[in-house]
Amino acid sequence: HAKENGKNNFQFYTAAMNAVVHDRMEIENGLRHALAKGELVLHYQPQVDIASGKMIAVEALVRWAHPEKGLIPPDKFIPVAEESGLIVPIGEWVLRTACRQNKAWQNMGLPHIRMAVNLSARQFRQPHLLTVVAKAMEDAGLDPNSDSLELEVTESVVMKDLEGTISTLNKLHAMGVRLSIDDFGTGYSSLSYLKRFPINTLKIDQSFVRDITTDADDAAIASTIVTLGHSLKLRIIAEGVETAQQLALLREMKCDEMQGYYFSKPLEAAELEKLLREERRLSG
Ligand code: C2E
Ligand code: MG
Ligand code: MG
Ligand code: MG
Repeated sequence: HAKENGKNNFQFYTAAMNAVVHDRMEIENGLRHALAKGELVLHYQPQVDIASGKMIAVEALVRWAHPEKGLIPPDKFIPVAEESGLIVPIGEWVLRTACRQNKAWQNMGLPHIRMAVNLSARQFRQPHLLTVVAKAMEDAGLDPNSDSLELEVTESVVMKDLEGTISTLNKLHAMGVRLSIDDFGTGYSSLSYLKRFPINTLKIDQSFVRDITTDADDAAIASTIVTLGHSLKLRIIAEGVETAQQLALLREMKCDEMQGYYFSKPLEAAELEKLLREERRLSG
């Protein structure tokens, strides 16, 4: 009996594994052409100053508008892109598109906002990163010292090869780029290095925000990140804020900014533009 079950399980797993491998290959093959075919799109999610309620930045989030499968979220293809190396041209496209979009909004006379762009591990370690970033800003016509671009790198990425990280971050900082540590609290930060990074912002990972009003441990972690960040003169942004209760608690903790469905989901460029027009109307 046991033998039979074992065999069945084996066949089951093999079939499941084949499906996974097949999916992956399909994604990788499709992704090779997605860029050239113009199937990648950026959505933009507001980041809001908690004290004033003003939108001060947006995060560019890539999606794949697949002709048959519809809109594919980044979690489904970024890891494949990262492993295959396709993340390098894709990331460059994201950066260039995001910079051009921000310049287009500036040219329309809309309120100034920062554009936050995610960098993957491979992009961050790429020797050409500095050139790619400088050229993206220059080609878009973005003034480097105008607080127009912020790069987000995850905690787990910056905490590897610490001397390399410091050197790369220093060069980006010298170019006038703002820097934030994404998904903060999920990795193992060396606090002595955190102090040496020329960063501006820590993003509290959404896993701590989700149950912040009911889980005392999560609330303690979030509050500790705010205190730690402030003592290092950093701004703190909470990700994944979905309710007024979460926001109220974060405000009490003196968290500086928030990003999440409570204010807005990631939006297409045209929708985000409407929000900016609304902000301009309210302020003037
Ligand atoms: P991330 O950089 O931590 O981005 C935040 C994610 O949280 C986004 O998911 C966003 O839509 C989601 N989110 C925001 N507010 C809420 C909320 O209130 N509730 C919930 N449940 N989720 C919320 P998204 O767009 O699916 O992106 C997932 C991840 O994919 C990103 O996490 C980032 O790591 C990666 N990614 C997205 N775009 C890019 C890109 O252009 N380049 C690279 N390298 N990675 C990207
Ligand atoms: Mg991010
Ligand atoms: Mg994050
Ligand atoms: Mg994340």
